[in-house]
Amino acid sequence: MHCRQEMRFIGEKTALERLADIRSRFAEGIRRDFEHAAKDCLTCETKGVCCLDAHFVNVRITRLEAVAIVREIERLPAESQASIRRKILDTVERFGLENAAEDNQQTYACPLFERDTGCLVHHTAKPLPCIAHACYERKEDLPPDELLQEREVRVFELSRRTYGSDGLPKPLPVALKHLL
Ligand code: SF4
Ligand code: SF4
Repeated sequence: MHCRQEMRFIGEKTALERLADIRSRFAEGIRRDFEHAAKDCLTCETKGVCCLDAHFVNVRITRLEAVAIVREIERLPAESQASIRRKILDTVERFGLENAAEDNQQTYACPLFERDTGCLVHHTAKPLPCIAHACYERKEDLPPDELLQEREVRVFELSRRTYGSDGLPKPLPVALKHLL
């Protein structure tokens, strides 16, 4: 007898709650077990370079993570929303991200970084690689890659079960552009 395994879909609201839970547990673990060995961002003399360095940033996100970020953008005053939207479109265009969506090496300056306030979604919808990132003097103090990868696989699966087959995670500006 032929047996076909059906994918069990979940609702967006539930998926966003689970995403928030994965994110906050991950952030708690990174804070507890690793960040004490990292440089303090509050005293950083190059604050934001980690988000704006166009040769370094290559954060990819799933559609579910993009939805969580867009919800936060939509809470902002209309003027700020319009300005973020412009920055997102400009970033996609400037770095040719739309055509390089499947290229993991394509980097960009993140449009969610604000000079005065830092990451726009720091407390609410920060992507997992950004949570894991900090500046460590010693390589052996860094969180192991598997820790991040394991969470990324869970979030990818969550997104897939929410929206069906939706391709690979995309560069953050592209994923946001598709929803805005
Ligand atoms: S992660 Fe590094 S570069 Fe970025 S603000 Fe913190 S110390 Fe500075
Ligand atoms: S999402 Fe936030 S932390 Fe991540 S690169 Fe953009 S501004 Fe930086």
